[in-house]
Amino acid sequence: MVTIAPPVTLASLAAPKPSAKTRDAYGRAMTYLRVSLTDRCNFRCVYCMPAVGMRFQPREELLTDEELLRVVGLAAELGFTKIRLTGGEPTVRPHLVDLVRAMKAFPGIDEVAMTTNALLLGRLAGDLRAAGLDRVNISIDTLDPAKFRLMTRGGRLDLVWEGIEAAERVGLAPIKLNSVVLRGQNDHEVGELAQLTVDRPWQVRFLEIMPMEGVGAVHDEGLVTSEETQARLEARFGPLEPLPEAPGDPARAWRIQGAAGTVGFISPVSAPFCATCNRVRLTADGKLRLCLLRNDEVDLRDLMRGGADDDALRAELRAGIWRKPWGHKLSEGERDIRRGMSQIGG
Ligand code: SAM
Ligand code: SF4
Repeated sequence: MVTIAPPVTLASLAAPKPSAKTRDAYGRAMTYLRVSLTDRCNFRCVYCMPAVGMRFQPREELLTDEELLRVVGLAAELGFTKIRLTGGEPTVRPHLVDLVRAMKAFPGIDEVAMTTNALLLGRLAGDLRAAGLDRVNISIDTLDPAKFRLMTRGGRLDLVWEGIEAAERVGLAPIKLNSVVLRGQNDHEVGELAQLTVDRPWQVRFLEIMPMEGVGAVHDEGLVTSEETQARLEARFGPLEPLPEAPGDPARAWRIQGAAGTVGFISPVSAPFCATCNRVRLTADGKLRLCLLRNDEVDLRDLMRGGADDDALRAELRAGIWRKPWGHKLSEGERDIRRGMSQIGG
């Protein structure tokens, strides 16, 4: 599907005005900041990192805790209400619990969530909940321990499952599980994953693989569209019941008849959701990345290290958001992405 950017209107050409919400030139309000805490990870998932040649950034190139919190505080002033911690693997960042506490304390921040592989969540979940973390999305692509080891290049499914149970026990709810569906790897298992929602109030979300830097060939060989995954689920469970769209949620939600939870489809390749995009990303090295799949970034780290005051940073944030690209151009064959998912914060 080709996404067509709406024309920039005369009204939208006026200089951005300070307001409760910060909008881009297309009128989309940016309220959701995804914050990558690190480019490092304790897994090496096949759809996220190449088998060889992965480079991690020297620590001095990553934002310090102080720099990170400064950006989040300014974002809160500009109308951002939701923060998602991601990475790399956010749970390997030192001082994670303190960072969550500090972020949740900014006036205007209603929700702090995290996307994690859950390997370390068994021991961290209680402290994170107490610090104010609201909920978690957990990546789990298969329920077969051997396959899990292969897809994560060494990960332990039993520990991840303990992490999921701990998250549920401490109230990091609703639990959402993310599965990237890959042909010939876990595509035959989507029914088992969806089955989890029959008795549990969870959402299991099936993601289309995106052709990020380093995994282009995995995408080309392995992409399974949401339509195909849905057909597979319907062959097993019967017609899925569509649920109302949640504003700003890229997942289209459905329910297996009579199930306690829901399944979702995230379809950035076959059905882009750019029109309703409400998010920008802060990479671990301090770039405000305006669109996941485009290279336009604002170098907040260098501005801060160059002595920029808060007014100057606010102005850069607003100007960056204003020029946020309409959307990605995967359907037109453009895939000059230059960063892997773990280097952006998926
Ligand atoms: N390490 C954490 C995790 O795996 O949940 C957080 C970071 S990870 C980069 C965030 C999400 O991106 C995960 O749900 C993962 O499955 C997804 N992801 C990674 N590479 C992807 C790709 N090439 N296409 C689509 N999703 C991808
Ligand atoms: Fe690590 Fe998450 Fe990427 Fe897997 S998807 S390698 S867990 S950052």
